[in-house]
Amino acid sequence: MTRFDRGKIKNDGLTVEAIFDLRTNLNANAVHAATYIQTLSEAEWTELRVEATRTGNTANPLFRCGDCRKAVYGRVSANGRRHFYHFKGDHSDCRWSGAVAESMRSIDAEKFHGQQEGERHKSLSRFVAEILSLDPASEKAGVFFRRYTKLEDGQYAYPDVFTSDWQGGPAAFEIQLATTHMPVIARRDAFYEKAGIRLMWIFGGSDDLDRRTFRDIYMRNDGQIFCVDGDVLRAARAAGEPRFRLYRLLPSSAANGFKPAWQNTIVGPAEISWGSSNSRPFIQPNYDRCLDQLVEADRSLSSLRDEFYAALTIADEGRAGAAWDKIATLVGGVNWNEVPSPRDTVRALGALASVRIGRLCIPTDIEITNLPHLVNTILLEPRERRIWTHAFELLCKSLGLRQLLERPSVRGKCDRNGSEAVGKIPIDRLTATTFDVLFPEGAFRRLSLDFSEHRAE
Ligand SMILES: [Zn+2]
Repeated sequence: MTRFDRGKIKNDGLTVEAIFDLRTNLNANAVHAATYIQTLSEAEWTELRVEATRTGNTANPLFRCGDCRKAVYGRVSANGRRHFYHFKGDHSDCRWSGAVAESMRSIDAEKFHGQQEGERHKSLSRFVAEILSLDPASEKAGVFFRRYTKLEDGQYAYPDVFTSDWQGGPAAFEIQLATTHMPVIARRDAFYEKAGIRLMWIFGGSDDLDRRTFRDIYMRNDGQIFCVDGDVLRAARAAGEPRFRLYRLLPSSAANGFKPAWQNTIVGPAEISWGSSNSRPFIQPNYDRCLDQLVEADRSLSSLRDEFYAALTIADEGRAGAAWDKIATLVGGVNWNEVPSPRDTVRALGALASVRIGRLCIPTDIEITNLPHLVNTILLEPRERRIWTHAFELLCKSLGLRQLLERPSVRGKCDRNGSEAVGKIPIDRLTATTFDVLFPEGAFRRLSLDFSEHRAE
């Protein structure tokens, strides 16, 4: 760390946080000033100061404020910190002039205070930039470090790496360090979503994935998180196109009770689902679908699941219980006699199975086409069956059945049943693996992770 990294800028007024250096930056992107100048040698810094002063009072100043675009000059504060400052004049329209101090709304000022500006962070940023530059569109648009990016409401940010053309739109790549905490993550998520800029979190790969900060990323992204490291960079150079390493939690084998385990592979952009600008990149099929495929591929389990569904269809508690217990023997889990009220359970799960496969799996006169009526009457209203509401909600979310879930009559009952169940572990989590085999949709959201058992390789 150099002496310029220490602490906040403290001097006789606000300094200019972002600047244009029009000597080199042909696209005129403003960059984070302190980050930019701290890398300059003494000779370069002196040269910069001369150029700034020489051109400052001309019609074409080479150094300009990133916000108001007026000329700025470089100087050193009493504590030895390099910074930029406006020339004398009226700067009431600039966020970095004293008069409008309250409008300072940087969402990531913490990035520039202290250790976060570490060598590791810098080298990861460089890796990412080089990898992105292998994409012709991004290369053409330019790949920038710490580009000043602002919203109309006054908020602004300096993405670690930015390009205006990644997979068809602007994208910010933020380095996820072990010290990046939830408030920062949430703030950046919200900022880039509002800006319509895709955000991809990148971590360095060698950290423990069980750290809270990484969980805060991948537990909201189907157990997936992207990283760059030296091997990824070499693979990208060899392929002549971008590469990332994807770490993902995936269900292990049936014999292992489908316990989640980390896997990692190097992937190219074409393998990744980029979705809309406000969704996180991830790889299909998702965790739930992978679990379903493992069940399908296992002859015993898939025929037991068929048998269980057949028993539901005629509401045969004994037959359903027998299939359930055989599954529990194979993958581990709670026995049927521990499930409350078998009579209600076969009917609740019959409704759930009907939603899942789009075919009636319960004796009823209600048509399969009238799912709201079916789930309201058979699953969500009878008191003894309300415990399966959590499973129903996860199933709908995983299958993308938002319309069914958001139907006012359905939503209202889900909310009521949810408030009745406050403080209780949902039955679909208690019956865990056996239930996941029968209804894989929602399995990822049911996971209780004990990381001591499955660290990243
Ligand atoms: Zn200004």
